[in-house]
Amino acid sequence: MSNKTLYKGFTMIDGTGKEPVSNAWFLVEGKKITKIGQGDDLPSAEDINIVDLDDKVVMPGLINSHVHITMEPVGDPFSLLMSESLAKTALRGAANLRKHLLSGTTYFRDLGAPGGVDLALRDAVKEGLIEGPEFLAASKVVTMTGGHGWPMGREADGVDETRKAAREQLKEGADLIKIMATGGVMTQGVEPGSPQLSKEEMESAIIEAHKAGKKTASHAQGTEGIKNAILAGIDSIEHGIFLDDEVIQLMVEKGVYLVPTLVAPYFIVENGVEAGIPKDAVDKSEMVMGSHMESFRKAYEAGVKIAMGTDAGTPFNLHDGAPYELKLMVDCGMTPMESLVSSTKTSAELLGIDEEYGTLEEGKFADFLVLDESPLDNLDTLFNINSVYKLGQLVK
Ligand SMILES: [Zn+2]
Repeated sequence: MSNKTLYKGFTMIDGTGKEPVSNAWFLVEGKKITKIGQGDDLPSAEDINIVDLDDKVVMPGLINSHVHITMEPVGDPFSLLMSESLAKTALRGAANLRKHLLSGTTYFRDLGAPGGVDLALRDAVKEGLIEGPEFLAASKVVTMTGGHGWPMGREADGVDETRKAAREQLKEGADLIKIMATGGVMTQGVEPGSPQLSKEEMESAIIEAHKAGKKTASHAQGTEGIKNAILAGIDSIEHGIFLDDEVIQLMVEKGVYLVPTLVAPYFIVENGVEAGIPKDAVDKSEMVMGSHMESFRKAYEAGVKIAMGTDAGTPFNLHDGAPYELKLMVDCGMTPMESLVSSTKTSAELLGIDEEYGTLEEGKFADFLVLDESPLDNLDTLFNINSVYKLGQLVK
């Protein structure tokens, strides 16, 4: 059978933010899109397979910039993770990978896992041992002693240790370095608003990552910690719950991305203590949710680059639930088209993979979704994806 397939007759949303194109077609050769067009002027050759997608809408696969593939979104994911063997964690990760892929996420970024399990899963996908989206992995998070995420992190204090901690992750094969700038919701006794690693400690880790050509992401919720991370040279602020005007201005000037993960506190508050979520986490989430949405709104209005990320794996934040985040971003001011661009092109840019992923353009990988209706009219259609293609192959 030929490795050339022509998909035709669909409405294309290419991920760049351009208006949808009706009666579009593209040719996929192997894993890549090699030609794109519109109308009946179709490439012709005897050895082309043809797939008719009349009345369908095609868009790029979603790219989720913040996932914990090894975490199970139960009431208390940390306790579960810390009580099971790494072998079990790896199997859990493999099962979660399929959930992402079959629900339309064709690429993502994992922001913290224990024991190098994320690195092994990433490689297993690459080698074709297991099915899943490709992804970038941070391995262990760099955190201060007793800091946010310490049970699955590399505790480090002082600039020499944070430098070494970053070098260790790079040595293991991490694709990026995740740094904890502030406390968070899910670690007991840690306040979301309080700064943790100092600007100097983060800076030495960031320099190491950048020297190796890798990006850095910072869990950062409180204003002072967010500012520290930005001044230290961070590439993305994860969560960004308490953003003030100064911080937003700095993000715009320095081109720092925001990955809001609005659904993370949302699902904690929605489900509550009754669902087995530690009271501490519920209280903190209730406290931050309003500010979180307000910060998102202000950052969006000021023109901060926003990449979609869910923090999947935190309580009731499902591995097949990315569309919830798009809906919340729209509730907080984005247009549906902007939520799609954020979840495809902008995420690809943040991950540094935009030369080959994130939009439907000639020369890029054929990662795409086929939908029964336009997500611009109804984002809920993303919960019922007709089919998913990864690297030119039908996977759902
Ligand atoms: Zn996270």
